[in-house]
Amino acid sequence: MTPYILYSDGKGNIFEDTTLYAVGRSGWEAMPIPEFEWIELPEGGSLYELPGRQGIGIDVHSGEMRLCEKGWAVAAFIPPAHTGLYLAAYETQPDAPTLPLFCYTATGWHNEKFYVPAVRIERDIRQEAGGYDQAKVEEGVNELLQAYPHNRLVKHLAENCALTYHCPAARNYFLGRWECPIPSSPACNANCIGCISFQPQEETITSTQDRLTFKPTAAEIVEYTVPHLETAPYPIVSFGQGCEGEPLLMWETIREAIIEIRKHTNKGSININTNGSMPDAVEKLMEAGLDSIRVSTNSARPDIYTKYYQPNNYAFEDIVESLKVVRKYNGWSSINYFVFPGVTDCIEEYEALRDLIKETGLNMIQWRNFNIDPDWYLGKMNISDQGENLGIIQMMALIHKQFPDLKFGYFNPPIERMKNFDVDFAH
Ligand code: SF4
Repeated sequence: MTPYILYSDGKGNIFEDTTLYAVGRSGWEAMPIPEFEWIELPEGGSLYELPGRQGIGIDVHSGEMRLCEKGWAVAAFIPPAHTGLYLAAYETQPDAPTLPLFCYTATGWHNEKFYVPAVRIERDIRQEAGGYDQAKVEEGVNELLQAYPHNRLVKHLAENCALTYHCPAARNYFLGRWECPIPSSPACNANCIGCISFQPQEETITSTQDRLTFKPTAAEIVEYTVPHLETAPYPIVSFGQGCEGEPLLMWETIREAIIEIRKHTNKGSININTNGSMPDAVEKLMEAGLDSIRVSTNSARPDIYTKYYQPNNYAFEDIVESLKVVRKYNGWSSINYFVFPGVTDCIEEYEALRDLIKETGLNMIQWRNFNIDPDWYLGKMNISDQGENLGIIQMMALIHKQFPDLKFGYFNPPIERMKNFDVDFAH
């Protein structure tokens, strides 16, 4: 089974072209996708038309690769908990606009259904599209805004995150379940090319969220997180969200909050999503009671990391040190690994990742789809040919074989899963 290519008429209407089979892209290269790597587009996935781009496919008769002349290329945004294995394959016209900060996975049509090359990497259902009842979210928003009338963070999570950005984590907070976000930092010490909370004026794309504009107090953090830890199923409270800069820049406030939270409850876990830039601050937070860390990275190679993060006053070695510090305190350590087919699965990256896992004693890889325009990323990073590629699914299999205790997923695990990852946590 190979799906047919999709194209759009530029007005939001999408059609299949039955003269062409769909292919995928890895790095700069278009290639056929093995049959077993296609799955039906999961619920919550969406399709994008790509202006100024023509899809590449395989002619059903000649077997030759050629462009689809019928319209714009189409890509899929696959929902959380799934990792894309190939990018959408297309040719970009010189005046094509840069695409916004979403992931662009290959897609096709077969038997009246949309297909994507992807794998479900996470069984946790906390961000299933079908699990959000908007009326209940709004009910929760009204209730908690009344409960905390002077709390700027709850107001931010309500008005911006839940009701404007439709952030899954914020909506879960207002539904009284699972992982609750704690944005805390208006500033950052990195300058990521694809930053989702801040894009420089000169760039044509905009950030998907606006960065937090105030510094919350420890009291504001404690006020709404303690009741969440006390009452939510599988509760986690997480510093470091998409709507802020780098939380470690606020480590004193975070430490104060952790100490205060643990005076009131020992339930659930306290996590930080971070760029991992300040290992000394991480140590202070572990001493205070932090349970887990998730360090974001586009690569396990210092040069590829540095070109993307453009760090101020820290280096790749600092993020490695932060991961090691957490393990020293027997905390749970994950990397938020931005998967880019053709870069992530090249031999050099695979070897660097193995070294990183060995050196840090890493607990988990969260194989995340990289939300960025592929041409723009490769161009900005000046990445040409990365040499031989393993394929994302083969790379996952190789890493799993060498590190059988290393967990794969997409979300920060609750304390129950940190203790026993295979616990049957029926939400
Ligand atoms: S570390 Fe996060 S907030 Fe800072 S520049 Fe990168 S993506 Fe943006």
